[in-house]
Amino acid sequence: MTNGKIIVFSKDQKSKERLDNLINSSNDLVSEEPRRNNPIILLKGVPKEIDRSQIPTVIRNYNKDIESAYDSEDAITVLYLKNNRKQHLVNVGIKVSPAIRKIILGTYNGSISLGFSLVHAEDALPIVQCTHCLGFGHTKAKCPKEEDPQCLHCPGQHLKENCPVKDRKVECCNCAHRPGTSSKQPDDIGHSPTSKKCPIYKATLTKTINKTNYGY
Ligand SMILES: [Zn+2]
Ligand SMILES: [Zn+2]
Ligand SMILES: [Zn+2]
Repeated sequence: MTNGKIIVFSKDQKSKERLDNLINSSNDLVSEEPRRNNPIILLKGVPKEIDRSQIPTVIRNYNKDIESAYDSEDAITVLYLKNNRKQHLVNVGIKVSPAIRKIILGTYNGSISLGFSLVHAEDALPIVQCTHCLGFGHTKAKCPKEEDPQCLHCPGQHLKENCPVKDRKVECCNCAHRPGTSSKQPDDIGHSPTSKKCPIYKATLTKTINKTNYGY
């Protein structure tokens, strides 16, 4: 293409990821997605008795404007569930079309009805971190890595409870594993892989925000 970009079609997700890694580890190439992703909205305090698979339908049924903006089957998809401080509630990350995001945050001013209860809704961080490999962009359920879990405390592969170097300072596995890190960021692996200060987290967040279609 005229702007110095080329389009590459990969035969499947795995080979695409391999290619992405290869491209991103070189200094003068970057890979980017052709289509922007839908934004993620966090619903805080959804009653647990609503089944995960029923959440999009319940939202449609109780919120007229969302129902009229529902233009495709995947206008709302459930991405993840997270614990809420209250036992009977759960926080839910949903991917929504830019039009539905606008209705939730604008028209409905950040609260939607789920029948009996009004639920608070806000922009979620668009970044998803896997609790198994601690990589970004997928959940544990879709993790491509089958080996032992990545330790939260050191670059090794084991549960944090079984970490043999628990008494040493925390080291970020993502920064420690990145090729070339040692010469570029010699002192910068002394943080948790879930820390907002992690340079890889920050770079991934910026990249993800740029790739997210907020509708403006
Ligand atoms: Zn993973
Ligand atoms: Zn460890
Ligand atoms: Zn890091």
